[in-house]
Amino acid sequence: MAELSKQSRRGILIILSSPSGAGKSTLAKRLMAWDPSIQFSVSATTRKPREGEEHGREYYFHTREEFQEMVENDEMLEHAEVFGNFYGSPKKKVVEALDAGHDVLFDIDWQGGQQIRNSMQGDDVVSVFVLPPSIAELERRLRGRNQDSDEIIEGRMSRSRDEISHWAEYDFVLVNEDVDQAEAEVKAIVMAERLRRSRQTGLNDLVRGLNAEFEAMK
Ligand code: GDP
Ligand code: ADP
Repeated sequence: MAELSKQSRRGILIILSSPSGAGKSTLAKRLMAWDPSIQFSVSATTRKPREGEEHGREYYFHTREEFQEMVENDEMLEHAEVFGNFYGSPKKKVVEALDAGHDVLFDIDWQGGQQIRNSMQGDDVVSVFVLPPSIAELERRLRGRNQDSDEIIEGRMSRSRDEISHWAEYDFVLVNEDVDQAEAEVKAIVMAERLRRSRQTGLNDLVRGLNAEFEAMK
């Protein structure tokens, strides 16, 4: 049954946004471990790779010139400047995945969320905003991640307020206090969205078959 509904519907664009450090990447990884059919939209960025990050896995790392060229060639579904770097979602793989019935997960900021909502069919987009339980905890997590300098952390903290100010534009909001609970919540959102009647056009055949069985019983 899961296979039937997977193959017979168009994929959903799942947008995950939050202030930096609230736990989007953690939740995205858990969601994909739960259902490997979900495809992660690997963004292109002009920011430098962090230790352990691989070109093509976390991001496609590009120069500003290369990035600009991709934008000019209309290769980006959306793009934005964040923390002085450019970030964007390459279009081709996303469209292919959606057409093949896969759900695609985006870890992008509010600007990207707005652009995708405006450019794609609204029904195909589900957006989730992740709030931290407190600003003190947000800062602890950013520092605990141990991947950015003090200056970069301060920049991210000052941008958090701006990011949080867009929380009400999202379909769903969750507070990532306990990570296991937040994971369960994000899975529940995806599950419920997949079960929307409007998405389950493939069930028409099943219902026709059920009716045929009723007829045969007469
Ligand atoms: P981190 O989120 O703190 O790990 O830092 P990153 O440098 O990986 O990302 C910075 C911000 O850019 C986050 O808010 C991401 O969600 C956002 N971002 C990443 N990729 C994209 C993208 O393709 N488009 C847009 N609009 N934002 C992106
Ligand atoms: P983002 O992608 O939103 O920048 P991350 O997923 O990288 O955030 O999380 C930032 C840090 O906080 C990471 O070190 C991560 O392991 C940790 N973290 C995520 N969720 C929680 C949580 N619920 N409680 C404590 N630490 C968390």
